[in-house]
Amino acid sequence: MRVLAGRLDLCAINTATLGFQAPIGEVIDVVARAGFGGIAPWRREVEGGNVASIARHIRAAGLTVTGYCRSTYLPATTHTEFLANVEANRRAIDDAAELCAHSFFMVVGSLPPGSKDIEAARAQVAEGTTLLLEYARTHGVRISLEPLHPVYAADRSCLTTLAEALNLCERIEPAGPAPWLGVGIDVYHVWWDPQLTAQIARAGTAKRIFGFHVNDWLVPSRDVLNDRGMMGDGIIDIAGIRNTIEEAGYSGLVEVEIFSSQDWWTRSMEETLRVCAERLQSVC
Ligand code: ZN
Repeated sequence: MRVLAGRLDLCAINTATLGFQAPIGEVIDVVARAGFGGIAPWRREVEGGNVASIARHIRAAGLTVTGYCRSTYLPATTHTEFLANVEANRRAIDDAAELCAHSFFMVVGSLPPGSKDIEAARAQVAEGTTLLLEYARTHGVRISLEPLHPVYAADRSCLTTLAEALNLCERIEPAGPAPWLGVGIDVYHVWWDPQLTAQIARAGTAKRIFGFHVNDWLVPSRDVLNDRGMMGDGIIDIAGIRNTIEEAGYSGLVEVEIFSSQDWWTRSMEETLRVCAERLQSVC
C-alpha cells in the first residue's frame, strides 16, 4: 500500500467536504494552498458558470479533477421525465469533459414519487446508464457508478452493493483493457458488505475502480446523510479497505468526501483541510 505521509499530492478533496461556503474559485485556491493533489467539484458550483475558466483555474492551481459530482437521478414516473433526466446528465458530461474529470460520478436514484416498483427503477437505471455511456465515451469521459449504502435504497440509489454495480457494468459494457464504465468506491457505503474484499478484487481485475472516497461512519450517527465523520472518528477500517483497493490495482487519488452539516461544515475551510491532511497521513 502506498504511504500517504508526506504525499498529499496523492490525496484529493471533494468540495462537499467544505460545505459550499465559498465560490468555487476560492475553494480551488484553498485546496491547492493546503497541498492537495486533486479536487472533485459539484455541479452546483460549476453549472451556470464559465466552465472553461473554472477548468483553467483548476489546472493552473496544479490540481487534477478526480471526479465530477454527480448525476441527476435517472428513474422517473413518465418516459418524458426519464428522457429529461438522461439529457440533464448529458449536459453534465459535457462539463465533466471540459473539466478533464477522471470520471463523472453517478448516484443513480431510486423510486420516483408514488412508486413501489424498485425493479422498474432498476430497469430505468440500466437503460439510462446505457444511453449515457454511449454519449460519455464519445466525449472522452468515464462513468463511475457509486453504489450507496442500502439505507438510501428508497430515495437515492437502488444500486446498493459493489456486486450489483459490477453486474451492471458487465451487462452494459463487455470487459476490455480500458473500460469506460466502472465504480466509485466510498467507504461509507461499502464498509459493511460481507463480500467487500472479493468484489474489490473483481473490480480491480476488470480495471473498473475509477475513484475512492474516504470519510467515517460515526456511532451513533445523528443523520445518515449529513453526519459523516472525519477519518479516524468512526468505525470504518479505512486503511484496510485502501490496502485491498490498492492491491487490486487502484493507483488513483484518495478523495475525502464528508457531509457534515452540524460539525465540519460549521468550521473554516482551512481548519477542515488541516484535519483532513492530518488524518489522511495517519489513519488512512
Ligand atoms: Zn462518495
